Amino acid sequence: MLLRSVTRSSSNASTSLFFRLFPRSYFSRSSPATGRNIRRLSAAGTGSELFLRRGLRLLPAAASGCLSGQFSLAVSTQTATSYPGQDEAEKLGFEKSREEFISECKSKAVLFRHKKTGCEVMSVSNDDENKVFGVVFRTPPKDSTGIPHILEHSVLCGSRKYPLKEPFVELLKGSLYTFLNAFTYPDRTCYPVASTNTKDFYNLVDVYLDAVFFPKCVDDVHTFQQEGWHYELNHPSEDISYKGVVFNEMKGVYSQPDNILGRITQQAKHRFTALCPENTYGVDSGGDPKDIPKLTFDKFKEFHRQYYHPSNARIWFYGDDDPVQRLKVLSEYLDMFDASPARDSSKVEPQKLFSGPRRIVEKYPAGGDGDLKKKHMVCLNWLLSEKPLDLQTQLALGFLDHLMLGTPASPLRKILLESGLGEALVNSGVEDELLQPQFSVGLKGVSDDKVQKVEELIMSTLRKLADEGFDTDAVEASMNTIEFSMRENNTGSSPRGLSLMLQSIGKWIYDMDPFEPLKYEEPLKTLKARIAEEGSKAVFSPLIEKFILNNPHCVTIEMQPDLEKASQEEVEEKNILQKVKASMTDEELAELARATEELRLKQETPDSPEALKCVPSLNLRDIPKKPTYVPTEVGDINGVKVLRHDLFTNDILYTEVVFDMGSLRHALLPLVPLFCQSLLEMGTQDMSFVQLNQLIGRKTGGITVYPFTSSVWGSDVPCSKIIVRGKSMVGRAEDLFNLMNCVLQEVRFTDKQRFKQFISQSRAGMENRLRGSGQGIAAARMDAMLNAAGWMSEQMNGLSYIEFLHTLEQKVDQDWEGISSSLEEIRTSLLSKNGCIVNMTADGKSLTSTEKFVGKFLDSLPEKPSSGQVTWDARLPLRNEAIVIPTQVNYVGKAGNIYSSGYKLDGSSYVISKHIGNTWLWDRVRVSGGAYGGFCDFDSHSGVFSFLSYRDPNLLKTLDIYDGTGDFLRCLDVDEDTLTKAVIGTIGDVDSYQLPDAKGYSSLLRHLLNVTDEERQIRREEILSTSLKDFKEFAEAVDSVREGLQWPWHHKKTLMQQTKNAQIFSK
Ligand SMILES: [Zn+2]
Repeated sequence: MLLRSVTRSSSNASTSLFFRLFPRSYFSRSSPATGRNIRRLSAAGTGSELFLRRGLRLLPAAASGCLSGQFSLAVSTQTATSYPGQDEAEKLGFEKSREEFISECKSKAVLFRHKKTGCEVMSVSNDDENKVFGVVFRTPPKDSTGIPHILEHSVLCGSRKYPLKEPFVELLKGSLYTFLNAFTYPDRTCYPVASTNTKDFYNLVDVYLDAVFFPKCVDDVHTFQQEGWHYELNHPSEDISYKGVVFNEMKGVYSQPDNILGRITQQAKHRFTALCPENTYGVDSGGDPKDIPKLTFDKFKEFHRQYYHPSNARIWFYGDDDPVQRLKVLSEYLDMFDASPARDSSKVEPQKLFSGPRRIVEKYPAGGDGDLKKKHMVCLNWLLSEKPLDLQTQLALGFLDHLMLGTPASPLRKILLESGLGEALVNSGVEDELLQPQFSVGLKGVSDDKVQKVEELIMSTLRKLADEGFDTDAVEASMNTIEFSMRENNTGSSPRGLSLMLQSIGKWIYDMDPFEPLKYEEPLKTLKARIAEEGSKAVFSPLIEKFILNNPHCVTIEMQPDLEKASQEEVEEKNILQKVKASMTDEELAELARATEELRLKQETPDSPEALKCVPSLNLRDIPKKPTYVPTEVGDINGVKVLRHDLFTNDILYTEVVFDMGSLRHALLPLVPLFCQSLLEMGTQDMSFVQLNQLIGRKTGGITVYPFTSSVWGSDVPCSKIIVRGKSMVGRAEDLFNLMNCVLQEVRFTDKQRFKQFISQSRAGMENRLRGSGQGIAAARMDAMLNAAGWMSEQMNGLSYIEFLHTLEQKVDQDWEGISSSLEEIRTSLLSKNGCIVNMTADGKSLTSTEKFVGKFLDSLPEKPSSGQVTWDARLPLRNEAIVIPTQVNYVGKAGNIYSSGYKLDGSSYVISKHIGNTWLWDRVRVSGGAYGGFCDFDSHSGVFSFLSYRDPNLLKTLDIYDGTGDFLRCLDVDEDTLTKAVIGTIGDVDSYQLPDAKGYSSLLRHLLNVTDEERQIRREEILSTSLKDFKEFAEAVDSVREGLQWPWHHKKTLMQQTKNAQIFSK
């Protein structure tokens, strides 16, 4: 749901799309620094993901992001650049293995082989300016000590040519990258970068190549200790504890029941035998916190030596840069190596299929709230085949997945949720990114006596679907949804070239054809023809029979809540650490305390200016002086304001209709998210919600409805809107507006049973967020104390909302009439021609041709004289708060409004807060504090400056670090080079790459928040002229936060152990 979380989604903001695309197979280095400091108005990754939430996953490895038909914004049939001829490639040490023109992405793709090492290179050329490079190694682990994951973190901590502490962070600070990250999958590790600036792009490529092949971490045990794990002992008299970035990251992962379930599914843990007990998928490449401390530095080094070798690497280039240059850069590195047998030793062996089903019961740590009997989870999992599937079958399975589970109307999803047996689905769908595909489906929030029933219902529904087949309308809706998403190729905020790379690698990594996953047109045509000729049942029923019903390799996993487990695990950890301490002599303890101190000193010593200069960076000259303008024409249709953006969208119309929430009664606010869901999922007088959903699927690319709130700079009145977003082919614009009208005006709020499901799903979702994104909950809470927009947002998406859902759940049976009429009241209050704004993005001709449908839509809206505006001046009481949840990690926040201290908005604040996040907080909270992230956020609209930490083992120490920020700024001495990097990095954030729909949407949000192009120009100039003086002056503004609020988010043990510090909570 898009509340005002435009950038607030914290540390994984930039990777959120990938989490959705690839929900459980990998970890990413989502650093706090990639959580932008700037409140960037971007639709990408927030709004657009609301469309086709599962649609993006429906063709998992096959075709989730390819181009189709004539669609081409950034690519053309001709590549301008010359291609290396056979001779030229030969001279550079490569031989051309294959060459093809891929019409789906209008690209010329050439596969090269480096002759000396056997390294394979895929060189894809087109005229997409968003260039992508990636190097991928096959890294199957043999145990759950997390070697691949720790190595992924560590290689980015300094290398031969770039011998500083963290070149990765230096790049984050001073590059125009559009993507910069690294991922660990269960069997591979990927290092992708992207930029639209060619010079910047090759800088990034060189740093990454040097990092993976010549990292310092294999000679430096300190990096291993910092990123992996180490014993920390501050004084011989104190207790020993574990520290390490990955160690804490994984403790956070293992604190979420859904994650634990996912991990158990893959793994053979202890006495359990899960889906893949015999191959590499049976262990956790990310690392189990219990096993991470078993990893030794020698094993770590050996893993790098063995697998990070060109013979075991696959390299990807994509975009409009010179293909000869690519090979030149690579040959410099690859020629330094001889061939190694790594490619054979890294082969992933398949798991043999079982002869019969298995069952596993496992406990997970649960909190004390709610009825524990109703907190069971049950999930059925199938390993679909011993060998990888062909593209045709894979595509058909993707379709089947969407048909069964893709939308709220899909039968398997609908029947499970309507059964009342559980609250929400868990881990459901086809997963086909690894060597062997699997299918899972399950429920959470299940009563202990209903577990069996859930299993029976899943099996009987699958049986029924195989026997009866699917509704024709449903098949058509899935077909349209899938084709639309292929044609649109909307990869959100991530580069298209990256999405193609990840698809190609899905086969290539197993020594299969890297071209095949890029070419979906033929298999899709074949599948459509088969469905047309034989009927959908003939296509899908055999798949259900073969891969699910008659497949003996089925593992049922039941997860039981355990109140004691979290504290037991802590006691176990403590016991181990006590034993470790008891086994050490006094000399050894003194030595450990000395080593702890040595590591800390090293971490806190900044790199020398000479070392910092090694990292290549751009000049201010390379930076455009003007911001990117989005063509915007403000006019009106039938008296309603209409914003038009003339942009090439390949025949797709994107539109937003905005209604004002200003006259809504306060008490109704927390009902708004469920109101929005009801509009799309409750049905009308004539149509069941299933029919309505299918109609939307058949005719459009999707419709979403969500609230949007934000403070407005220089105004006391918050912006509070409901946004209805839709997209369709231009030729279907009339259908789109008719359906939007139907959703808004004809939906009836009469289905109590469905409404009850919405409540329990929302509650389950929010509870998951509570554990996994405590920093987001904390930020929302602090905002709610500081301004009205924050208060509104918290009512709809924070702790207050969770409390509201609990009450509502009780109320729904007693007073459904009352709730139903409240929903109706929200509609009446919102729906009005007055104050409505329409936003449209498409090419000029299409904008004109669709005007009449907009006019008809607007005329059908009721006209209301502007009613008395309710003033939104509500706040939560200003106080320090603490909340206890069953997790192994903490989240600590502190915030204040710096405008009230007299600070005047200046563009330099963006540069400064980014710098604080990338240096002071990164070094102290993450590197030496051992948290997964520490960052700050400045909301220039409200003036709220907040500090937040993520998966933090500390509490009070982190708060001290926040408080020290003012002094850090006062003592700061930055040279010209550092300052330039900080400025360029900030411009990189401001100018983030956007696809056309995101451009149009950003422009709408700027309009709503009164951000003019003139003001953007002023801020840009302020950013570009930021000086050291600005940093010093900002210190005072930050000092005002010190006196402000803090909000520690922590687990039970901390509260019990640290009662002596309890005064901070009651301040
Ligand atoms: Zn990580």
